[in-house]
Amino acid sequence: MATLGIPQNTIAILQKYDFVFQKRFGQNFLIDTHVLEKIIREAGITKDDMVLEIGPGIGTMTQYLCENAGKVIAVEIDKNLIPILTQDTLSEYDNVRIINEDILKLDINQLVEEENGGKPIKVVANLPYYITTPIIMGLFESHVPIESITIMVQKEVAQRMQAAPGTKDYGALTLAVQYYAVPKIVANVPPNCFMPRPNVASAVIRLIRHDQCPVNVRDEKMMFAIIRAAFNQRRKTLQNSIHNAPELYFTKEQIVEVLEQMGLAQTIRGEVLSLEQFAEFTNRLIEKSK
Ligand code: SAM
Repeated sequence: MATLGIPQNTIAILQKYDFVFQKRFGQNFLIDTHVLEKIIREAGITKDDMVLEIGPGIGTMTQYLCENAGKVIAVEIDKNLIPILTQDTLSEYDNVRIINEDILKLDINQLVEEENGGKPIKVVANLPYYITTPIIMGLFESHVPIESITIMVQKEVAQRMQAAPGTKDYGALTLAVQYYAVPKIVANVPPNCFMPRPNVASAVIRLIRHDQCPVNVRDEKMMFAIIRAAFNQRRKTLQNSIHNAPELYFTKEQIVEVLEQMGLAQTIRGEVLSLEQFAEFTNRLIEKSK
C-alpha cells in the first residue's frame, strides 16, 4: 500500500473520490511521513496494543497504526470518508474496525469492553481541533480504561495542558489534564505538514494516565467547581472568586480561615495554586462547611 503520508498519494485519493473537505469537521490531513513515524514511536505502539483512533480521515495514520498495533478501532464522523477507508486505503488490513459515528456520542467504555475485554487501550489521533477539550475530558471523566493518549492538538492547547502554576498558560484545562495524566509535548508541527494547511501551529502531546490519582480529594466535582470559579475571574483574588461563584456556597469567613490554615495570603490568586493546594483547599472548605 502506497503511504498516504506522501502528498501526491493523498492528492490522488482525494481526486479519485472527488473528496470535498468539510471545514466544520476540522479536516486537516497529515502529509508528512516524519511526523507520522514520530507519533507512532512516541505512542509506543506494539502488537500487544489495541488503539482507538479518533478521526482517521482518509486513513493516513491508520495505515501506520495497522502496521504496528494488534488491533485498531477508527471512529470517523464523515460518512463520505467511509468508502475510501473500507474499499481502498485500509482494505488490505484485517486488524481494523471502522465505525461511522460521532466520537462524542459513542459509548467508548462499552466498545473497550467488547473489543479488548475492558483492558486499557491507547488513544492516538490527529484531533479535530474544534472538539479537543470535550474529547479528552470525556475520555478521562467517563473512566475509559486508557494507558496513554498521544494526540495532535493546537500548539497553544498543548502548552496549556503542560503549563506550570503562575504562568499565563496555566488554567482549568491544565489542572484537569494533570489530575488524570502526566502530559509531555513530544513534537511541534508546522501548518505545512497538513492538507489543507490549518491557520494555527500544532503540537503532538502524550498524556500518560496516572496509576493512582496524584492528590487526595474528598469531592472531585467540588474541586473542579472551585478550580473553574478560580479561573473564571482570573484577575480576582481566590477569596473573591470563590465567594462570588453562584454555584458555590462557602462564606467569606470559611474561606478566610482555610487560607490562614494553609499559610496562604488573603490576596492570593487561584492561578498560583498547584493541584495539591487546590485539593487541600477543597478538603478544608468541605470540612469547615459541615
Ligand atoms: N487522521 C487523519 C489525518 O491525520 O490525516 C485526519 C485528521 S483530521 C484533523 C480530523 C478527523 O476527525 C477528520 O477526518 C474529521 O472528519 C474527523 N472528525 C471530526 N469530528 C469528529 C467527531 N465528532 N467524531 C469522529 N470523527 C470526527
